[in-house]
Amino acid sequence: MYPRLVVDLKKVEHNTRIISDSCKTQGVDIMGVTKVFCGFEKIAEAEVKGGIKFLADSRIENLMKLNDLSAEKVLLRLPMISQASEVVKYADISLNSELKTIQALNDAAKKQGTIHKIMLMVDLGDLREGILPNQVDVVVTEILKLDHIKLYGLGVNLTCYGGVIPSEKNLGQLAEIADHIEKTYDIQLEMVSGGNSSSYYLVPQEKLPKKINNLRMGEILVLGRETAYGDAVEDMHDDAFIFEAEIVELKEKASVPTGDIGMDAFGNKPTFVDKGIRRRAILAAGVQDVKAAQLIPMDDKIDFLGSSSDHMIWDVTDSEENYEVGDIVKFKLEYGSMLSLFTSEYIQKDFI
Ligand SMILES: *Cc1c(COP(=O)(O)O)cnc(C)c1O
Repeated sequence: MYPRLVVDLKKVEHNTRIISDSCKTQGVDIMGVTKVFCGFEKIAEAEVKGGIKFLADSRIENLMKLNDLSAEKVLLRLPMISQASEVVKYADISLNSELKTIQALNDAAKKQGTIHKIMLMVDLGDLREGILPNQVDVVVTEILKLDHIKLYGLGVNLTCYGGVIPSEKNLGQLAEIADHIEKTYDIQLEMVSGGNSSSYYLVPQEKLPKKINNLRMGEILVLGRETAYGDAVEDMHDDAFIFEAEIVELKEKASVPTGDIGMDAFGNKPTFVDKGIRRRAILAAGVQDVKAAQLIPMDDKIDFLGSSSDHMIWDVTDSEENYEVGDIVKFKLEYGSMLSLFTSEYIQKDFI
């Protein structure tokens, strides 16, 4: 059935092993971040086989799907107070930055007769989640008063909102704060988590501060490239996930529409370049499934023309393939296209 997404689990496992092994040489454990594939259990399982011991997701609904896998579960998005009891139940560790929430988790853990582990997030400039460095003492003092919360670690998130690149400087600051907490409060932080796939480039350069012993890896494991500079990582697969869509019309047509131009399906006024008569393929998939601009055609001689809710139009004039109606066109993915393809219920997911 098409459109479909084909996932090569062996390639995911291989990618995970490469990154996991390389990080181990620097004393760093990794979390496998499952949110980009909506927590599909089989893919998470491939990552566990590839050597990871922590599975992390933004949503409790996804962690629930992973309940049977033998890995510690981590909630990445700051918990909603309204979900505190589910967080304690389904996540071993959660990332936090608000005392009010941590107190709610403490209450929930008390009710469930357990201790919930938290990673305190520090904002080192990217301006998404995290307490500011000058609040560390105030917040840690309060956390340490809570009987059902264990301050398990310290973390930072970079290259998400602000695009800030992880460096020896900002991660050095995280390491210093971790040292400060350990000395001042006479506790040990088991985990100091220095960011996501964008921190990986520091690992082969051996530039990650010693104190950092964890990274949270999503994109790099599934797409085979680091995300500070977008570079491919040697020996990794960038084609573990392939999107396939079927041609439902193939005709030669003009490149400029006929008639007065109003608005397209999404209220934008389109513009056109006259390239004469072109061979145009309509594929049976559209914006409901994926943003076509985030697809990488495996046939690099085809060009994206436009899409509406359920159709994509590609110019195949220059291709060496002799496409016909009913043929399948294949694409590699970007992060955004993977995210939406997994979310679309119209896309069949096949595993090989
Ligand atoms: C999504 C996310 C990650 C993983 O990011 P990648 O760029 O996919 O590696 C790590 N940490 C947090 C807090 C996240 O939300």
